[in-house]
Amino acid sequence: MAFDIEMIKKVYEDLPGKVAHARQVVGRPLTLAEKILFAHLHPSMDTKNFERGKNYVDFAPDRVAMQDATAQMALLQFMQAGRPQVAVPSTVHCDHLIQAKVGAAEDLSTALNSNKEVFEFLASVSNKYGIGFWKPGAGIIHQVVLENYAFPGGMMIGTDSHTPNAGGLGMIAIGVGGADACDVMAGLAWELKWPKLIGIKLTGRMSGWTASKDIILKVAGILTVKGGTGAIVEYFGDGADSLSATGKATICNMGAEIGATCSLFAYDEKMGGYLRATDRADVAELASGVAEHLRPDPEVYASPEKYYDQVIEINLDELEPHVNGPFTPDLAWPISKFADAVRTNNWPEKLEVALIGSCTNSSYEDISRSVSIAHQAVEKNLKTKSEFTISPGSEMVRYTVEKDGLLQAYDVMGGVVMANACGPCIGQWARHIDDPNRKNSIITSFNRNFAKRNDSYAGTHAFVASPEIVTAFALAGDLTFNPLTDTLINEDGKAVKLDEPKGFELPPHGFSVEDAGYQAPAENGEGVEVLVSPDSQRLQLLDPFPEWEGTDLHGLRLLIKAKGKCTTDHISMAGPWLKFRGHLDNISNNMLIGAINGFNDSIDKVKNQLTGEYGPVPATARAYKAAGIGTIVVGDENYGEGSSREHAAMEPRHLGVRAILVKSFARIHETNLKKQGMLGLTFAKKEDYDLVQEDDVIDIVGLTSFTPGVPLTVVLHHADGTEDRISVNHTYNEQQIEWFKAGAALNIIRRQVLQPA
Ligand code: SF4
Repeated sequence: MAFDIEMIKKVYEDLPGKVAHARQVVGRPLTLAEKILFAHLHPSMDTKNFERGKNYVDFAPDRVAMQDATAQMALLQFMQAGRPQVAVPSTVHCDHLIQAKVGAAEDLSTALNSNKEVFEFLASVSNKYGIGFWKPGAGIIHQVVLENYAFPGGMMIGTDSHTPNAGGLGMIAIGVGGADACDVMAGLAWELKWPKLIGIKLTGRMSGWTASKDIILKVAGILTVKGGTGAIVEYFGDGADSLSATGKATICNMGAEIGATCSLFAYDEKMGGYLRATDRADVAELASGVAEHLRPDPEVYASPEKYYDQVIEINLDELEPHVNGPFTPDLAWPISKFADAVRTNNWPEKLEVALIGSCTNSSYEDISRSVSIAHQAVEKNLKTKSEFTISPGSEMVRYTVEKDGLLQAYDVMGGVVMANACGPCIGQWARHIDDPNRKNSIITSFNRNFAKRNDSYAGTHAFVASPEIVTAFALAGDLTFNPLTDTLINEDGKAVKLDEPKGFELPPHGFSVEDAGYQAPAENGEGVEVLVSPDSQRLQLLDPFPEWEGTDLHGLRLLIKAKGKCTTDHISMAGPWLKFRGHLDNISNNMLIGAINGFNDSIDKVKNQLTGEYGPVPATARAYKAAGIGTIVVGDENYGEGSSREHAAMEPRHLGVRAILVKSFARIHETNLKKQGMLGLTFAKKEDYDLVQEDDVIDIVGLTSFTPGVPLTVVLHHADGTEDRISVNHTYNEQQIEWFKAGAALNIIRRQVLQPA
């Protein structure tokens, strides 16, 4: 059930009534984001309090999308739920594990070999549980979702930060961690802080070299990488309606770079046209039937400042192409100022590689506009001066641009077409460089340009721009070039000037594809075996975590008293460890290896109370676990900040940690701990942190009457025979206490599935 028209029909049937009710509750006209949010409240929600940026609210998303890297643990966990099928339409997309090296065919075949077991697992688990599977080479998750699944007024969560791409088709689409995806697939509610709203009014029309990418590059410059945090960014105005659906998606995609929860455009004819072009005339018709509910109320357009927390206006008539960077996507330069910035800041002027692609900019429109520059290169006898690669966003786009004769021009001008995948955008790039330490410049049409993101070299200055600007720079090989005003010297030694790019919003002869790369799941997956080799180093089936033993916890040992910052990266490091993200036992060897031990200021060096020796945190935890002794981790402020990575909660659970006791938690991590059946506790008096000693034996008392709002007691038995009894707080509600007792939230779901009430 990857695509489900009945589900979409239901959303549209219910929409008018839900919007009317929401207007009544709120007592004023509604923005589009509010309409969609209210329409997707979880049935269990009875709160009337929707204060922006304050209240946490439960939602019922319509669908889930997962990319191959993050899907592994999400699906391994989902298997624990015991459901025969996912609760909502879901898809898996194999795009992150394909390294760009030589060209599409060869790179794809290498990836198929090196990731065989992961792809086989994902294919088989998808087949079993009713999940649509997009094979390696089918394309990048967000482009494929836009082409097949996104629909106006819907709500989706995806295990990737650029999930908001689907806002280009009017969908609230939000990037989440694997645990959230697992919950929704298992039929649980999904929680989000009711977002703030930023309204961006677009007036005028783009022309010439300016593209949708330049709108978001400009917005990033205004709002910076933090400006959208906790907010939905809603675009409106005549200028917004003039943009193609894929152009809208580019803007929503890169809203991730300003920290936005997601971004959104209202339903219009451009979206209808895109839905029809991608074989979804039925969805376009249904959406047109409720069009007024897929746009903000008229009063919002009339006085946006009354309804949004912040309003920004951009006149597209005046918008210049932008180049943003290096090292951060919010360093925004209009093209007229860029050459000066390059010289003034002493950034390497020589452009070494130009790259087109990524989920942000690899639509038919993007490629056709870039190709119009490539055609000029052929006509004007220009050759690329830098390396130039093109990664189409999906097989459908690639097949169509090839059929329409667009790819050939890249060949002639000196470009190389890579696999339909993330490739260099996520560092999956075997870059050829003589000296990796040398300062150098690259330009991409991607979204992120943090140091080392694309090629892992700290000296690489990565800039981002639209595909057409990137193509022009590939021809110039020089960052001080301005295609709007400057000439280039061609192979005949003549000065030539590039004309403005031209493209097609949609393919003039329609999209086509021979094999889009989709594999539908079995109708009944009962007999389907999930393929995981017992000796795999990358994948491991999970065993359910054990239930609470029904008593207070006595005789725990202190595993580590972490000092200072302890983010999810300190708890579960990324980098080389990510290859084990589907193997809980192997990845647990990175548990807390980045945390600073408060007793010796060292990392990954803690005392094993059983032997008196110091050793790595994971090995010490394993020693206690082998001896049947539970442990406790003590931490400082905002413990677990950073990503929503579920491994940071699963690893301690797996290695026998029973409680995390800290001065304060990052909220998402605290929730993740609860879901895994751990105790997440905070010092009632923060200074009690200082009472914890290295050789303490620790009890947690009060669990037999574990109640919301009632503190527990921690007893610290010190080595000198003295003890301290301290009060610790928790934020468990009734349901979360049941998770703790059952050993994990998923254990409860499995029980419900196996023994329905
Ligand atoms: S193309 Fe880049 S930004 Fe997009 S999903 Fe892949 S890695 Fe993420």
